[in-house]
Amino acid sequence: MEDPCPKCGGEFHQTDKNTFSGEVWREYTCRQCGFVLEVNDGQALWQVLHDGTQKDRDEQGKP
Ligand SMILES: [Zn+2]
Repeated sequence: MEDPCPKCGGEFHQTDKNTFSGEVWREYTCRQCGFVLEVNDGQALWQVLHDGTQKDRDEQGKP
C-alpha cells in the first residue's frame, strides 16, 4: 500500500485480510486519523476471465 490517506495524507498500515468466495480483501487503517480503506485484490483475475468468455462466444456463435 503506497497511496497516502485521502483525508490527511498520512501513512496506511494493513490491519486485516479476508477472503470471500475466492476474492481477497485487505483492510488498511491510517496511522494519523484512523481512516479505514478496504482493497479488493481479486478483481484483476475476474476481469480477465470475463473478457475472454465474451469474445469467444461472439466469434463462434455465428454460422
Ligand atoms: Zn488519515
